[in-house]
Amino acid sequence: MRIIESVKEMQEYSEALRNTEHRIAFVPTMGYLHEGHLSLMREGRSRGDCLTISIYVNPTQFGPSEDLSSYPRDFEKDRKLCESVGADVILFPPDREMYPENYQTYVDVEGVTRNLCGLSRPGHFRGVATVCAKLFNIVKPHVSFFGKKDYQQLVTIKRMVKDLNMDMEVVGLPTVREKDGLAMSSRNTYLKPEERESALSLSRSLKKAKQMYDGGERNAARIIEEVTGYIKSFPHTRIDYVQICDTDTMKDMDALKSEAVIALAVRVGKARLIDNYVFGEPLSIP
Ligand code: AMP
Repeated sequence: MRIIESVKEMQEYSEALRNTEHRIAFVPTMGYLHEGHLSLMREGRSRGDCLTISIYVNPTQFGPSEDLSSYPRDFEKDRKLCESVGADVILFPPDREMYPENYQTYVDVEGVTRNLCGLSRPGHFRGVATVCAKLFNIVKPHVSFFGKKDYQQLVTIKRMVKDLNMDMEVVGLPTVREKDGLAMSSRNTYLKPEERESALSLSRSLKKAKQMYDGGERNAARIIEEVTGYIKSFPHTRIDYVQICDTDTMKDMDALKSEAVIALAVRVGKARLIDNYVFGEPLSIP
């Protein structure tokens, strides 16, 4: 397994692979890898001749008061995990490679980024779209893998790839959860022991939303009210949003007519956790 820090070296490596008809699978991450990341990597391994993982904590997607400096990092552990799934390359660029002096170009995906995390984290998706566009130009993948845990991010990347005619497939994969239902996240490490139970309010409330939907409820406000009340009944929780949106447009819905996702962002102590459920899909939460 190669570890590449230079943009130029990565581009040359990928170009050589493309010229010899190799299929490049790519999983972009911010590191501190867990089973959620590994599920994307295993799928990438099975669908590409070369599997490249990027590990880069992208400063442009963090707001000024967010956790950029405290974001967890453990490159040695990540390296071993990448090796364990048979990755070929880790792209591990320093900031000066990604955003050299005088950098001034950003990608703004409009409609789908304007709701949900776009409201509570201004500039976040501009940073995400920009870094992904750059990584795609550096890694030159045929197929890239993203988690549905970050549902709005997946929709944003799919939109960007389509709108900018990027010649690449984007695959979304299911959320991997702990046994008790908590969606795996590098940020779960921020949870203090007494907050861990409260973090379960997210997944458990999604189960409640599913039960209401399966029982025939189609009124978004009623589901949101139930979910909000449930999350608030746990200590240490502070809701950023509970919303039900159309899965294509990410716009709020009143009645669940087309395909809909319920999306949550909740602060539990100093961790800001997100989770979601697409109505009608399976959900395995105890
Ligand atoms: P991150 O390192 O948090 O930026 O995540 C990198 C990729 O892993 C993104 O596509 C995420 O959606 C995905 N991911 C993160 N957590 C999970 C999870 N629990 N299950 C599936 N995919 C995940």
